Amino acid sequence: MDSLFPETYEASRARFLREVELLRPKWDSSRLETYPLKNCPDLSIDWLWAEPRLRENLVVISTAEHGMEGYVGSAMLKVFMDDFASRMNPEKTGLLLLHAINPWGMKNRLRVNPEHVDLNRNFVFDGRYSPAINPDYDLLMELLNPSRPVGALGAETIPFLAKVLKNMIYPGKGRIQAAALLGQHRHPRGIYFGGTEPQQETLVLMRLYRTALARYQNFFQIDMHTGYGPRDQMTVIVPPVDPTTSTELSRKFNYPLVQKIDKDEFYAISGDMGAYVYRLRDAEFPGKDVFACGFEFGTFGDSLAALIRSLRITVLENQLRHHGASSPQAKKEIREEYEALFLPAESVWREKALADCRQAFEGIFSSYGLLQ
Ligand SMILES: [Zn+2]
Repeated sequence: MDSLFPETYEASRARFLREVELLRPKWDSSRLETYPLKNCPDLSIDWLWAEPRLRENLVVISTAEHGMEGYVGSAMLKVFMDDFASRMNPEKTGLLLLHAINPWGMKNRLRVNPEHVDLNRNFVFDGRYSPAINPDYDLLMELLNPSRPVGALGAETIPFLAKVLKNMIYPGKGRIQAAALLGQHRHPRGIYFGGTEPQQETLVLMRLYRTALARYQNFFQIDMHTGYGPRDQMTVIVPPVDPTTSTELSRKFNYPLVQKIDKDEFYAISGDMGAYVYRLRDAEFPGKDVFACGFEFGTFGDSLAALIRSLRITVLENQLRHHGASSPQAKKEIREEYEALFLPAESVWREKALADCRQAFEGIFSSYGLLQ
């Protein structure tokens, strides 16, 4: 089972390039395409188009939009290729399998791209990267982005908690997490920076989405993430623009946990990739059907303590990247905590993540009549 989770970006990519060959007998017109990153030609976004005779349905599986989360994503992509692709009808269902939307982040075990941009805050549909979207973030700058070398985890915790408590009074409880996670386009060295223009990775994906929606009637996407939500139950997350309620989707997919990305259910995001696909459909391909969701494999849990722990390591890792650490030990502790947030090593966690993924694949694909 552990062998499903690759050790390195290179191992993950090599496996993908090898195993897409196994799909060729079924989709004989399939082809691999690649986009090497500017300035890092050893790192690339790679994808397989497996096209059917009748372009009716397209199933998109994508990984590593948040680079570090791509190791779990790679395992889930392999589950799809091993156990689900073979059950789809190659006459009328095509595949677009995307290995590593953010290969630099995956290689360097970070969520962000080389410009420190969170790509899931960079898909701004109207192209206006407004610095004004998140006024609460500006109030919280001292908490979210300390500008000094980071200390050891233990030494940083008390001052961090003191600032969290202070900021719960003003601007208010709940608004800290909401402000952090919404994203921002004003502070290039801050956490959840969504960029001030579309990134190269984003432009590659935007082109693929336009091609996909032009060619296919029904578009289904599952994008792989880790880090948020309950530890023992993967969350299927759906952009708020999808018209179906989470309760209805949960019943339809026979899967226990479906949530909308909004402040009442999960959290609000500006510039997220899933919502972009719906907006593109609405603007340019109004007759097409879209369902774009994310699988979010929770790690720390969803208690208040877990949310504070997640925010703490997000802040400290960003501080480490921009300002360095006070000691090698501090750096080591920060990196270990960051790994625990996005790539848990425990076998029990990994087994459950794989089981949840299979259950959700089965439920979603069956509900749309995609499995034979
Ligand atoms: Zn993510």
